[in-house]
Amino acid sequence: MSESPLLMIPGPVEVSPAVAAAMASPPPSHLAPELVEAFGSALENMRRVWRAAADDQPFVLAGGGTAAMEMAAANLVSEGDRVLVVGTGYFSDRMAIILGRYGAQVLAVEAPVGDAPDGERVRQALGLYGDVRVLFATHVDTSTGVRIDPAPLARLARERGILSVFDGVCATGGETFEMAEWGADVYLSASQKALSLPAGLALQVVSRRALEGRRRRAGAPPLYFDWEVWRSIMEAYEERRGRYFSTPATNLVLALDVGLREILEEGIEERVAKHQRASVALRAGWRELGLAPVPVRPDLAAHTLSALNLPEGVDKSLVAAIGRLGVSVAGGLHPEIADRYFRVGHMGYSVTRPDWLARVVETVGEALVEKGVEVDPQAARRAVEGLFP
Ligand code: PMP
Repeated sequence: MSESPLLMIPGPVEVSPAVAAAMASPPPSHLAPELVEAFGSALENMRRVWRAAADDQPFVLAGGGTAAMEMAAANLVSEGDRVLVVGTGYFSDRMAIILGRYGAQVLAVEAPVGDAPDGERVRQALGLYGDVRVLFATHVDTSTGVRIDPAPLARLARERGILSVFDGVCATGGETFEMAEWGADVYLSASQKALSLPAGLALQVVSRRALEGRRRRAGAPPLYFDWEVWRSIMEAYEERRGRYFSTPATNLVLALDVGLREILEEGIEERVAKHQRASVALRAGWRELGLAPVPVRPDLAAHTLSALNLPEGVDKSLVAAIGRLGVSVAGGLHPEIADRYFRVGHMGYSVTRPDWLARVVETVGEALVEKGVEVDPQAARRAVEGLFP
């Protein structure tokens, strides 16, 4: 058994043995036949995991979630464009910062920490401001554990002729997203969360409408992020021809192919349903330990992570105490409440491991006992096992 702690932070996360093996294989050339095949099949399978249309364009780049955010902004936004950001926490704030750097006029619809602006407020804001070009929202804000429903926002954007961009970094593969059915224009992501791969890939699927939007942008985006440049590369790999623009992260591409296949072997609906069942079971465990969630309503709570308020009298050293017991969880990230809560990731391969989910709750309970809180870690473990056997 590995000596390293069980990795239950909200990304990076544990990966399956097959994904780990793909990462550990000798690095292939970007033009090697097996790499070309893996790249092509990963692109095809991204459409299936994203529930995208046949003419939506997937992109795979070396980078991370922030690079994927940057890429969406770079292609759609230029000086003076009006954009609307649905505020849910640290990562929607980051989106606003990125957009500001492209000279956008950023309008934000905000909500208190742990809450999300409702669709009606977004509709009113769009009515009020007029001529908004792109709507940006974070599917799951990893800083607060708040999940929004992208469907009405994507439909609203379509109705008004606005492009919609969703940050799925902490959601893709773990939360329902119907890109084609909802008419979303960009669903961006990264490898290290619910897709259950090591960190290092910036991923996104882009609609035809958004690719058109790129052409209407004033001036060209930074070269590395240009959809037009990358498109021909992605098309070539999908046609099983290797083509060079900037060296892809070849081992990560192999891992992406393996990871997406694993998700699709289960079925994306089943994988998402597993995340839902896992989060419901964990909530029962947290309740047993007296831990209250940061999201202010159950319907706002993500299925991919738990953001939990620290109990009275317990400080953020709880995170290190949990770590000493062999499970790695994360501290707070949202600046307004950073020292008052902690976060546990439950996404990707870990939701296929009920033993890990039971262990994380029991370990949090044991650390609370160490801190003098009167709770029963075993009862919490049983609460999880009862719902996620
Ligand atoms: N968006 C969300 C929702 C995230 O959770 C993260 C990473 N925690 C990012 C964007 C940025 O991703 P990265 O750290 O890979 O740049």
